[in-house]
Amino acid sequence: MPVSGLGPYDDQNIFAKILRGEIPSRRVFEDQWAVAFHDINPQAPVHVLVIPRGKFVSLADFATGASEAEIAGFWRAVASVAKQLGLEAPGYRVLANMGPDSHQDVPHFHVHIFGGRALGPMLVAK
Ligand code: AMP
Repeated sequence: MPVSGLGPYDDQNIFAKILRGEIPSRRVFEDQWAVAFHDINPQAPVHVLVIPRGKFVSLADFATGASEAEIAGFWRAVASVAKQLGLEAPGYRVLANMGPDSHQDVPHFHVHIFGGRALGPMLVAK
């Protein structure tokens, strides 16, 4: 049985295309390790996605396969993006879906940054 959230990586996934500039995105940040852009279907006043430049399917894949520098660079980028968006003082939420139970839709590791209002309980449905 395949392990949830691990490769193989699909080069045709939508975030791979965004990374290559083949489809447009509203980028708010990019550096050596990560790219951040507005979610196309925002769930909060601020809803930004941060993705590593490396080819990782999920958090499980990233944690297993990424170098220490990639992991550090990525998470520093997440916090930098939130700060750049003015979310550090009011606060924000970071979320990563991983595998089937989470309904991860796009098989390129990403984290969501939500902010811009009081966000309420962490999960809606029990
Ligand atoms: P997840 O369910 O964690 O895989 O989330 C995938 C997210 O990608 C969803 O919030 C979608 O709205 C978002 N999304 C899908 N296609 C695009 C796109 N072309 N540009 C920006 N965000 C996208």
